[in-house]
Amino acid sequence: MKNIVDFIKKLYTTNDFIPLHQPRFIGNEKKYLIDCIDSTFVSSVGKYVDTFEEEFAKTVGSKYAIATVNGTAALHISLLLAGVKRDDEVITQPLTFIATCNAISYCGAKPIFIDVDLDTMGLSPNSLEEFLKTNCEIKENKCVNKTTRKIIKACVPMHTFGHPCRIVEIKNICDKWNITLVEDAAESLGSYYKNKHTGTFGKLGAFSFNGNKIITSGGGGVIVTDDEALARKAKHITTTAKIPHPYEYVHDEIGYNYRLPNINAALLVAQLEQLDKFLEDKRDLTKQYEDFFYNLDITFIKEPENSKSNYWLQAVMLQDKKQRDEFLDFTNKNGVMTRPIWRLMNELEMFKDCQSAELKNAKYLEERVVNIPSSARV
Ligand SMILES: *Cc1c(COP(=O)(O)O)cnc(C)c1O
Repeated sequence: MKNIVDFIKKLYTTNDFIPLHQPRFIGNEKKYLIDCIDSTFVSSVGKYVDTFEEEFAKTVGSKYAIATVNGTAALHISLLLAGVKRDDEVITQPLTFIATCNAISYCGAKPIFIDVDLDTMGLSPNSLEEFLKTNCEIKENKCVNKTTRKIIKACVPMHTFGHPCRIVEIKNICDKWNITLVEDAAESLGSYYKNKHTGTFGKLGAFSFNGNKIITSGGGGVIVTDDEALARKAKHITTTAKIPHPYEYVHDEIGYNYRLPNINAALLVAQLEQLDKFLEDKRDLTKQYEDFFYNLDITFIKEPENSKSNYWLQAVMLQDKKQRDEFLDFTNKNGVMTRPIWRLMNELEMFKDCQSAELKNAKYLEERVVNIPSSARV
């Protein structure tokens, strides 16, 4: 284990503590922030919000992008716009960050947990199809869960650590069963499946710019869609549902204060300009880790077939839970931050009563996968 710690210290050319993922501000961040402050438009409207939304849509190849205060808010609104209502059900994967399930819960809906694929660590289309065939029927054009008699309105796969899941197959299954596809692309800015950007396969996609993500605005998020009506509605309900007027304050439905402040957007415009540099260095890091782990009994996790991953968080797979715990203990005690993958959502107190399919792969990965330092060295 000592050689691993030494190798990572050499990679980052330091003997200091090495965090898992640090932001890098190497471009126009300060310039745009000062400009934003000088303009006094630091809050909910301003040119940086507009610029960011335009540039982001171009980057991922979607027609529209709507900035939000964080990724969880982007997911919440995406689910509402997908038609998720109180007492509906939403299919997702148990191996994800808590935000996915929180957003489902904010709608008053319940998650159903379906297994992931071992190679992508994202929702498995085979498990999804099997669950639907066994447990569901189409009634009046809706997918009805025969066990609970509730409607399964949406499906939220997640691209784990930036590795794309089998999103085209998932989309085809969702289409067949009248389930709206919403992508949790919070971790996958810069990741492509068959040359199409992740987050753009579903009716709506959500990204996050939290401090640990590949680019950050401190906190922030964005919704992408190709549907003009949904885009307009997303902007409306994230900005308190105020009817545009020069001075009157009239609101036509219950809205949310989910706007991204202009000052955060200023940071984000600068960060987006650096995305290619970050992606390039993460590829280089991947190559070095891959070579290093090649002859060890620890497997470096590579991007799945048909995909280009952003390698947001680099990950390795240990032999078993015991070896994983030794790895976590040794690295963290020796100044190299490593972290196990998330505790499965279906094991948490809030979700333990939710319906689950067999979760063999998720369980396998939960016991073995560890993230290792992944910051871009730029
Ligand atoms: C980061 C993240 C989110 C959103 O998180 P915020 O902190 O609210 O921006 C959602 N889902 C996943 C899988 C994430 O990793």
